[in-house]
Amino acid sequence: MATLNIVKDGDEVLRKICRPVTEITPRIKRLLDDMKTTLHKANGVGLAAPQVGVLRRIAIVEVEEGELIELINPEIISSEGEQEEIEGCLSVPGRWGITHRPMKVKVRATDRNGDTFEVEGEGLLARALCHEIDHLDGVIFYDKAVRMLSKEEIEGEE
Ligand code: ZN
Repeated sequence: MATLNIVKDGDEVLRKICRPVTEITPRIKRLLDDMKTTLHKANGVGLAAPQVGVLRRIAIVEVEEGELIELINPEIISSEGEQEEIEGCLSVPGRWGITHRPMKVKVRATDRNGDTFEVEGEGLLARALCHEIDHLDGVIFYDKAVRMLSKEEIEGEE
């Protein structure tokens, strides 16, 4: 399994609308595997296909170690409540902002076997799901940030 290059902020690939996956080919499965390797190496909680230069509606999320969720054509079907938290992105290193996200979301997606499933997330998982699904529509977290953290605040966090 290969580690893929993570596209950085400023690359127009991050601003494109991704196309749905119509057939789960061996190439799609390999992409999911490589995205997992890449996410682990980067120590992130989520990664979307456009972040590795692939304009397809695919994302992975792993909030609890070992509990990786693979999402093909994910859609948020319901959301509830609100949370205000500090958010960052593997494609936007060194920058953090405060976003408002739903406290709970329910997402419907397809798995690598082609089966539809639903996942409910709360707190960090809800945030990660929203963040990764936004990437599939060319949205970056700072578009939604109510405020970006200053350099001093970031140093205080570390
Ligand atoms: Zn991101």
